[in-house]
Amino acid sequence: MGNSINNTYDAIVIGSGMSGGWAAKEMSEKGLKTLVLERGRDVKHIKDYPTTNKYPWEFEHRGQIPYDVQKENPVVSRCYAFREDAMHFFCKDTEHPYLQEKPFDWIRGYQVGGKSLLWARQTQRWSEFDFSGPTRDGFAVEWPIHYKDIAPWYSYVEKFVGISGNKDGLASLPDGEFLPALEMSCIEKHFQKAVAKNYKDRNVIYARCAHLTEPKPVHIEQGRGQCQKRNLCQRGCPFGGYFASNSTTIPWALKTGNMTLQTNAIVHSIIYDDAKQKVTGVRVIDSKTKDVTEYYAKVIFLNAGAVNTNLILLNSTSKRFPHGLGNDNGLLGKYFAFHNYRARASAEYEGLEEFNEDGRSPTGGYVPRFRNLLKQDTDFLRGYAISFSGGRSLATDNSGFGAGLKSSLASKELGPWHVGAQMMGETIPKETNSVKLDASKKDEWGMPLLSFNVAYDDNDEKMIKDFQEQITEMLDRAGFTNIKTSDSKQAPGLDIHEMGGVRMGKDPKTSLLNKFNQLHTCANVFVTDGACMTSTSTQNPSLTYMAFTARAADHAISELKNGNI
Ligand SMILES: Cc1cc2nc3c(=O)[nH]c(=O)nc-3n(C[C@H](O)[C@H](O)[C@H](O)COP(=O)(O)OP(=O)(O)OC[C@H]3O[C@@H](n4cnc5c(N)ncnc54)[C@H](O)[C@@H]3O)c2cc1C
Repeated sequence: MGNSINNTYDAIVIGSGMSGGWAAKEMSEKGLKTLVLERGRDVKHIKDYPTTNKYPWEFEHRGQIPYDVQKENPVVSRCYAFREDAMHFFCKDTEHPYLQEKPFDWIRGYQVGGKSLLWARQTQRWSEFDFSGPTRDGFAVEWPIHYKDIAPWYSYVEKFVGISGNKDGLASLPDGEFLPALEMSCIEKHFQKAVAKNYKDRNVIYARCAHLTEPKPVHIEQGRGQCQKRNLCQRGCPFGGYFASNSTTIPWALKTGNMTLQTNAIVHSIIYDDAKQKVTGVRVIDSKTKDVTEYYAKVIFLNAGAVNTNLILLNSTSKRFPHGLGNDNGLLGKYFAFHNYRARASAEYEGLEEFNEDGRSPTGGYVPRFRNLLKQDTDFLRGYAISFSGGRSLATDNSGFGAGLKSSLASKELGPWHVGAQMMGETIPKETNSVKLDASKKDEWGMPLLSFNVAYDDNDEKMIKDFQEQITEMLDRAGFTNIKTSDSKQAPGLDIHEMGGVRMGKDPKTSLLNKFNQLHTCANVFVTDGACMTSTSTQNPSLTYMAFTARAADHAISELKNGNI
């Protein structure tokens, strides 16, 4: 039983974002007294969405980020969603510094809900091609689990979250438990048909997304309603139309009466009791008073987001673990990875002029990975998925001023259909891509600063070139014109899919976590955010983190019952 007087609980969850919300829900629902420690402030669903119903003209800077804020915060300003309507949900560079041996854009949201408030809600499952990748292609280490192990947990999570999608029947992108799909636009349908006609190995589908297109009883019970296609998601949705932990898992867990939420609580480190030879709790700094408190529990879930989970473990030193908790093999913080989102394409289409872009959709077209799927057929390893969307804008000329500009803006004439595509490339985790603690520099709460040494490699460069060639050919064959490709050269990190550093594997000599996400050397410590990832696939990762978390929590509960932890 939990006892807040002596700071003792059954379970502690570090972080209240996408994955922490699931750990909190699962364990408190099954009767465990669960303490959720969140370094940021509380963000209550609806009440704390200050911009959610604002009109564009109600924003002082019409939605733009003021120049001085941009100048002071160059990293977060590079994120497309860091705009005036949602800037209060992002960490500012100035407030939370870190070190870059090589450039790394670390995008963070420190609050209840974490980055689940801000995400683009794309939710594709991994396939067996992804789990067997490292073994087939000889990189990283073998995953200790396969698609069949996680498939039931994908279903479990999808039903609760609410995922809209079509059953596409593709081995490279397994189908899930879907609410009705949204409808593609005519330009997306055109591309879909053209790709089907021209390629046997490629498909265009409508990307699955965490939006309630037709709420089921469980979603109504969560207090959520149908997505209104406002496409203002990053402000927080008053309808609960998309999944975020602060609208869904956290309130659900609170309702059980078993969960305690402690905000402004920065976990400094995990306590390893050298006498008892086990982990007993966590050390927490109050972000306001800087007071330090210890909390104790039988089981601890690390869900601080991949980078902060690495930081906490590296900072958790003891006689038994002088180089960080569980770090006997020296691999903690290494094999850190991300997604390659550098390349894009754009094009126009002359035709379909009788159609207009009517209404909005929170998702878009998606080409699942087709490169090196069944066998190795290029000079780089693995492959990329492609996101694709199109629209039509008013054919206005904004270059003038005065009456000319006014009358041009009043024009109802539409220009041609234009489309954009982006690669979502798998990167190969490498020992040299790593995060570590700086030996001397600390933040204002006394936490060591984290330093990034992460970079692209030759495989990524070859993949970018291939994407540019292939997307150009696909668009050309589909009749598009004015096809352009670009390479943003953006630093790793801006994909906002940080992964690894505490990877899963079969062998404690080459990995940190076992097949249930437990530290090989401390069975009561579970890591189920992006830090646990052995390889990266091409899919947006959050659905997989949620499924891993639910599976690991189930295991933790049965291990507790059996007295094994
Ligand atoms: C603009 C944007 C678009 C995205 N689009 C997608 C998408 O379409 N699909 C997808 O799958 N993913 C997407 N993502 C990524 C997705 O948001 C993350 O994968 C997901 O939120 C990670 O979940 P998490 O639980 O690991 O971390 P988070 O959701 O970030 O939660 C971590 C929590 O831990 C807290 N914390 C950190 N350190 C400590 C500490 N020391 N003590 C206590 N608490 C701590 C943080 O404050 C935070 O609340 C996107 C992200 C952004 C920002």
